[in-house]
Amino acid sequence: MFETDFHAHSLFSSCGLHSIIEMLTKARDSGIKAQAITDHGPYLGRKTSSTFFERLDNPVDGIILLKGIECNVVDEDGTIDVIEKFMKWYDLVLLGFHNFKAKGAEPEYYSRLMAKAITKNPCVDIIVHPNVPGYRLDFGMIADIAAESGTAIEFNNAKTRLGRSSAEETIELIETCKASGCYVAVNTDAHALNEVADHGAIEELLKDTGFPMDMVVNRTYESAMNWIESRKARRAEHY
Ligand SMILES: [Zn+2]
Ligand SMILES: [Zn+2]
Repeated sequence: MFETDFHAHSLFSSCGLHSIIEMLTKARDSGIKAQAITDHGPYLGRKTSSTFFERLDNPVDGIILLKGIECNVVDEDGTIDVIEKFMKWYDLVLLGFHNFKAKGAEPEYYSRLMAKAITKNPCVDIIVHPNVPGYRLDFGMIADIAAESGTAIEFNNAKTRLGRSSAEETIELIETCKASGCYVAVNTDAHALNEVADHGAIEELLKDTGFPMDMVVNRTYESAMNWIESRKARRAEHY
């Protein structure tokens, strides 16, 4: 059981179904101590709210709200749709490919672009779902990029649970990260209440592969919060 989760969506994403309060309440009732709400960036039509970042302070008793964004690589120059004016409030900045103009290209192509985006945007903390169909990254390349930059690779429970990424491919990702020694984060990517606090599909694969848990940044509540603090301190040096 993971007590923190770094990736979930609310109604501020067009694909989200529930309010922030509903997501946090379900997370708390399921044993989560800190839950990130990481709605999509403006490239995917995010409803931007400065109130969320500037004024909302742990609205549900018994659980910490982590504020984040799931950004997109938007062009071949490595530009991302992070909202700079909220930079000082981000606990987590996630980055991945969604609706990118070139779909189904070689994994090396997306990996080179990801490397460019991370170099250009040192605010990024986590590379999300590198095993998503359509924008599959080269696992070896991306693990090296993560190890060099101190970013974490995401093991995305929803994508594996729904079969969007096959178990075989997720195992390949897990084994590649294990060999590289990069940081990883185990995330729900919950869009629906039934997905909140569900890390089960990944937990099973971690057990099967004997994955070293000290590489998982959110293995405990303490390790998760310490990692976030170190990333925020690093971000403050750049922005
Ligand atoms: Zn995503
Ligand atoms: Zn997501």
